Amino acid sequence: MIIDTHAHIHQHDEHEIPEIISRALECDVSKIITAGVNITDSKLSLKIANKYENVYSGVGIHPEEIKSPISKNDIKALKSLSKENKVKVISEIGLDNQKTSPDIKIQEEGFYEQIKLAKEEKLPIIFHIREENNDFEESFAKDIAINIFSELSIGDIGGAAHYFAGKWDYAKKLLDLGLLISFAKPIIYNKSLHETVSKIPSEKIIVETDSYPQYYKTDRSKWTEPKDISNIVNKISEIKQINRELIEEKIHNNSIKLLNF
Ligand SMILES: [Zn+2]
Repeated sequence: MIIDTHAHIHQHDEHEIPEIISRALECDVSKIITAGVNITDSKLSLKIANKYENVYSGVGIHPEEIKSPISKNDIKALKSLSKENKVKVISEIGLDNQKTSPDIKIQEEGFYEQIKLAKEEKLPIIFHIREENNDFEESFAKDIAINIFSELSIGDIGGAAHYFAGKWDYAKKLLDLGLLISFAKPIIYNKSLHETVSKIPSEKIIVETDSYPQYYKTDRSKWTEPKDISNIVNKISEIKQINRELIEEKIHNNSIKLLNF
């Protein structure tokens, strides 16, 4: 069994959701975490999670959505959502250091406040840190994140760096803080990530599709869905040269532990 630890299936047309879930179940995906990107979207994520047994919710405000300082009302709304049974994680949160991203100081404050909330509610976080031009050598946002994680002792609640596409030395810093690494599709086509995959212990890996409605792909059958997650597990098995069933079991156990299932 596999858990898709980060997707956005609640953003699909609602009539499609039962089909997406059943296609996922056929491919051994037992649970899907669907993450909100702002308050309204987080409420929708919870609504869908409450409707479908295998779907769980992540609530949070995505860095691209933090255009003005995070308000007390935002935190209050997230806090009340995070108390719901089906909310398993504070997500999607992060830091985006890209040309068109909102002011980094404002993002930093929003990121910090949401992690503080996660600690109060004893929920893990699933986050991303992106630098300009996907330049993985650049470390401005990464350094900010690492300082926040140390200050707030992130290991107490745990979390995962999702859609990870960084180098081993950065992964190592996150692992040392008690975090996990979540791999998605990039490891399939980006060979430069294979070194990172090979060095990260199996006990520290989870997987995700980050799937959402890809309207830009005219062929609907080409949209990424939670059902596609086994390709990511296959690749990890191949790179690490660990038996496919064994690595799936390990990844599943890691996800269960992180998300307190
Ligand atoms: Zn996402």
